[in-house]
Amino acid sequence: PIGLINGKLIDLNETIVPMEDRGHQFGDGVYEVTRVYNGRCFALKLHVDRLYRSLRELTIPAVYTYDELAEFHDLLIKESGIADGAIYLQITRGFSPRAHGFPENVVPCLTMSIRPAGAAPDKNKLEGAKGLLIPDERWLRCDIKSLNLLGNVMGKQKAKEAGCFEGIQVRDGFVTEGTSSNFFVIKDGVAWTHPRSNLILTGVTRTLIVEKIAPDLGVPVIEKRFDEAFAKAATEAFISGTNSEIVPIVALSGQPVGTGSVGPVTRNIQQAYWAMVDRECGR
Ligand code: PLP
Repeated sequence: PIGLINGKLIDLNETIVPMEDRGHQFGDGVYEVTRVYNGRCFALKLHVDRLYRSLRELTIPAVYTYDELAEFHDLLIKESGIADGAIYLQITRGFSPRAHGFPENVVPCLTMSIRPAGAAPDKNKLEGAKGLLIPDERWLRCDIKSLNLLGNVMGKQKAKEAGCFEGIQVRDGFVTEGTSSNFFVIKDGVAWTHPRSNLILTGVTRTLIVEKIAPDLGVPVIEKRFDEAFAKAATEAFISGTNSEIVPIVALSGQPVGTGSVGPVTRNIQQAYWAMVDRECGR
């Protein structure tokens, strides 16, 4: 497997990042995951814009321009020969003797890797998957795509142990998002999702649905918080994310959502998403 450190090609099995990288010791860094279809990055501009925002919020200097980052993505695709995959990118504050406060004169460290992904949609995408409502135990800056993912990791594991594909998190009675996805419900033909705030990550997939796909399909979107009972009474539900794309959620905590099978609004949104990928990446 190949990767990049600060733009230079490396063998992932042989390269070791210094012990005192603040990413290891404090989770002091940010990341992005971008899908590659047909040898091309999908929605890279939106991912890089969000990366810059995450860096700004943590006052980590953005060392690379958009063009440089795009070039690194292309280099990984070319060198790996992976046409359908996902590229992971991480920037940490850098290496410095361990101390909580920001070190001075530290240089951020960029690491990237590429992994293959299935080109064909899997069973969950086609037939729907189960969700488990779980308490949202994360910190209060979920809008930053930071390396601190313990809350998400613990939540996903809880869902997995219950035989569910995703944990749908609930904070103070209101449904926020999945552990690695955003969450939507459909009620009376209207799509509801948690508003942009510090309590959710504004997903690139979510943005594409809210700003382009739903309006094109004539599906009204309400960005307003809703509670657990509202979600359980929805006619349809789905999660969205770079890796998941659109996965219909056909059961929530053991109860069927609507008819318990994939609903028409979700299916239309999913197909419009794939059509958008096809247009941009020429699949
Ligand atoms: N919310 C969380 C907590 C995530 O980790 C992710 C993606 O990993 C998303 C939402 C979806 O974001 P995107 O659509 O940009 O992949």
